[in-house]
Amino acid sequence: AGAALAAELRRLDGGRYGQYRSLAGTWRFDGFTLRVARVQADPFAPPSRLVVHVPHEVADFPAGLWSTPVRARALAGYLVRRAAGELRDRAFRVDAGGQQVLERSACRIDASGVVLRLAMELPGRGRTIDGRAAERLLCDRLPAAVAATLRWSAVDHDEVRAFVDSVEDTDALRRTLSELRLVAFVADGSVLPRRSGVDDRPLPGGGVPFRSPESLRVEVELPHRGRVTGMGIPEGVTLIVGGGFHGKSTLLRALERGVYDHVPGDGRELAVARADTVKIRAEDGRRVERVDVSAFVAHLPTGADTTDFSTDNASGSTSQAASIVEALEAGAGTLLVDEDTAATNLMIRDARMQALVAKDKEPLTPFVDLVRPLHRQHGVSTVLVVGGSGDYFDVADRVVMMDAYRPVEVTERARALAERPTGRHAEATTFPLARDRVVDPRSVRPEANGRTKIRHRGADALVFGDSDVDLRAVEQVVDPSQVVGIGLALAHCVRAGHLDGAVTVHELLDRLAADLAGDAVAVLGERSLDDFVVPRRHEVAAALNRLRALRVLQLV
Ligand code: ADP
Ligand code: MG
Repeated sequence: AGAALAAELRRLDGGRYGQYRSLAGTWRFDGFTLRVARVQADPFAPPSRLVVHVPHEVADFPAGLWSTPVRARALAGYLVRRAAGELRDRAFRVDAGGQQVLERSACRIDASGVVLRLAMELPGRGRTIDGRAAERLLCDRLPAAVAATLRWSAVDHDEVRAFVDSVEDTDALRRTLSELRLVAFVADGSVLPRRSGVDDRPLPGGGVPFRSPESLRVEVELPHRGRVTGMGIPEGVTLIVGGGFHGKSTLLRALERGVYDHVPGDGRELAVARADTVKIRAEDGRRVERVDVSAFVAHLPTGADTTDFSTDNASGSTSQAASIVEALEAGAGTLLVDEDTAATNLMIRDARMQALVAKDKEPLTPFVDLVRPLHRQHGVSTVLVVGGSGDYFDVADRVVMMDAYRPVEVTERARALAERPTGRHAEATTFPLARDRVVDPRSVRPEANGRTKIRHRGADALVFGDSDVDLRAVEQVVDPSQVVGIGLALAHCVRAGHLDGAVTVHELLDRLAADLAGDAVAVLGERSLDDFVVPRRHEVAAALNRLRALRVLQLV
């Protein structure tokens, strides 16, 4: 087995690089097939793409390990990490991902078996084929790695079971949040701090382990770990207060990442937020296309209509207002806001400022007056980090103080303080919902020079056709392959005609969700060999909203 490919590579040795083209197709090996799906034209072109398929009869993983979509994703997540470890070599590239276990194209378990997709640089000496090196890589290294990872008999049974069970527990925990009327949960013993701002692995030693305050302690029963306790954050408005450097942002960041499942050992395996949780921040300079921001912004000095507001260069406050309205439009059920990245003038306006600057001179209605109506009228909860303004005590259902990395509930004390008059008056009592936006299908174009172009620049930007979409402020994009997935999702919507016929953004996202409800990787990967991760609707919407070419036809 593999002999045919070896013979072909020997025949090609020393030939022109372009002759590698003859490798395209499927090659049989002992226990798997290798499909050479794309051959690079020259040594400097993007790498060639390979697809390894191991049928279930050979891989032989117990069906229980991949019997549900969650378990199949977890098993694939385990295998892709193992395969990437085995193929740690300059020639191969396996998109294993980081601390999150995401649904990715690089590895999946389907009805037929285990599928591993990877990239490889076909070796050359200048523009000549190095057939011997290619043979070593494709006929020795790769089969050895496949045999060592993609088979039940080769992997550590306890380790793989623990991995799959852990992810299933995380998922189960997240699913129980709504019946417990919680928006988030952080288990006792969780490790939230990370190594650094650019290293998502846990702080070595773990720092101060998480311990819930008794008053917010909740016990839940998980399928594998059994009973666990932790802090439940109830629906409504929750404040996280505390001194600088006491761990407020670290907690909020864990909630923000809590929409994803984390690998065992990460420390955040049981730190979860509801799946429809969206982090909000200010992002001055972003474009805004016809968003009704009138809940937050009235009568701008320019005279612009804030029920139908567009700008190529939003201010901090208007960008944050637009992002909140857009998040609600996409279906967010919980918002997360950190003072570190919020626009202060959109968050608060105290009594003295109210007295000095009359309402008719101040276009902004601060979030402090809207956060409660948002929950009472629309059922949307908010978790806010606020270390600098006690005005939020008036509107908070719960106040949690971080004290040297330990949460303490201080709701009663905050309530008592809220009894003291500040002279501040509320500037709003309702949260008017924005009108729906109908997208102009001609404005969403994945093509550049007649060809679909979807690339990522790390997790920072999406190249979509001729456009560069800045995603730096979309903080729940955690993996470059998610960026590609977002691009593929938008391209899929265009191709499927989901934008045609006066479709609102919300309907568009619903149509996408319906298409991705089954085998999402198959749907998004239909026309692409690139590595990608299946994105959430919230990040797809965030990218669409940041597409500078986006045009809205009408508001309905
Ligand atoms: P805040 O937002 O309250 O100012 P941060 O969340 O930014 O504080 O945390 C300040 C520092 O403390 C960061 O370097 C963070 O990594 C670290 N840190 C956070 N939580 C813990 C913890 N539980 N144990 C040890 N260090 C922590
Ligand atoms: Mg902070």
